[in-house]
Amino acid sequence: MSDYSIETNCLHAGYHPGNGEPRVLPITQSTTFKYDSTEQMGRLFALQEPGYFYTRLANPTCDAVAAKIAALEGGSGGMLTSSGQAAIFIAIMNICDSGDHFVSASALYGGTFNLFSVTLKKMGVSVTFIPPDSDEETIKAAVRPNTKLIYGETVANPALNVLDIESFANAAHACGLPLFVDNTFPTPILCKPIEWGADIVIHSTTKYMDGHATSVGGCIVDSGRFDWASHPERFRGLTQPDDSYHGVIYTKDFGKVAFLTKATAQLMRDLGSSPAPMNAFLLNIGLETLHLRVPRHAQNALEVANYLNNHPKVSWVKYPGLEGDSQHALSRKYLKYGVPGILSFGVKGGRDAAVTFMDSLSLASIATHVCDARTCVLHPASHTHRQLSEEGLAIAGVSSDMIRLSVGIESVKDIIQDIDQALSQI
Ligand SMILES: *Cc1c(COP(=O)(O)O)cnc(C)c1O
Repeated sequence: MSDYSIETNCLHAGYHPGNGEPRVLPITQSTTFKYDSTEQMGRLFALQEPGYFYTRLANPTCDAVAAKIAALEGGSGGMLTSSGQAAIFIAIMNICDSGDHFVSASALYGGTFNLFSVTLKKMGVSVTFIPPDSDEETIKAAVRPNTKLIYGETVANPALNVLDIESFANAAHACGLPLFVDNTFPTPILCKPIEWGADIVIHSTTKYMDGHATSVGGCIVDSGRFDWASHPERFRGLTQPDDSYHGVIYTKDFGKVAFLTKATAQLMRDLGSSPAPMNAFLLNIGLETLHLRVPRHAQNALEVANYLNNHPKVSWVKYPGLEGDSQHALSRKYLKYGVPGILSFGVKGGRDAAVTFMDSLSLASIATHVCDARTCVLHPASHTHRQLSEEGLAIAGVSSDMIRLSVGIESVKDIIQDIDQALSQI
């Protein structure tokens, strides 16, 4: 399937029905799978033979969808999780033990920031945050003997910084470390981080991949390119025998899917954040139109950003697709096919004006979500960052006039008309 274009793979990758089999990926709504011999089931448990035995570990519907996402990203394999947060946690804990450390660009999704700075810290895994625009020397300078990976978001949610993936990958590889990239916002339609050197790609499939706001989910894709075995002491969990599987050595026995086999066999087994087959089915329907929806989101967002940029009641607009934006040069390099449809802007008159604007919208809905087919808005100072003081808001980079807009795929004329009438209420 990898010979086909990404558009074709959105429809066909991952599931190839045989003669007389269902055309549409079936939902295998079964926790268990039946076998005729004790011996065969034994071999499955010993990882000596591939096959299904319990849906927490693997399920045909989920596997087909993971394989599709891996094909879209150009990876060697994929693994679905119950949420984006679970995907990030599993990917990191797959190579970090208590006492280990990693380096991350600081422009991150709020949930990821908390995971790194609070929960992983409690588990003994520490992080050093570096500015998202750090050069290679700065990145390398943050690396310590116990560092296991470098982390960043292709387009940060909500700050909208564009990661210089190539220079982050160069710095990581110079230190013998893998680069993990959260590619949720661009999706492989707008950027394929593996082509720029990323080793592990992570998604919250909840966003554009699902695209219709139906199911929370996540995915980990392995490029299959990082040579874990050349750093056997650093990545002991992958290169030393696993006692819980009769001495399996993942790098030796599973080659290009060593990372994902360990993540499934150990962490999914023990943590259990497995996706529901029904949700994987819905995600798959979303993926079938990803190549049509994402460019339209990008196109509509650019038009809306230009409209806002010229409006007298708008004080500022943040969108990497705008020529004057600080991220424009990086977006030209990494987002050649368009910039994801999320932007933020401020209205003159501060918090009260922002609230009046939001309450006056009729097409755009107020929702804690982004990347939905339907346009939605959020006022961070009243919603996601409500607990913060004015001072705290300033540190988080959230001004009280800030409105975050996720531009949908309705007619852009209608979206702009709605924004226009709401701005006139201020
Ligand atoms: C939403 C989001 C997540 C978390 O994903 P969930 O599916 O909500 O758990 C992680 N990273 C980014 C960039 C996100 O936008």
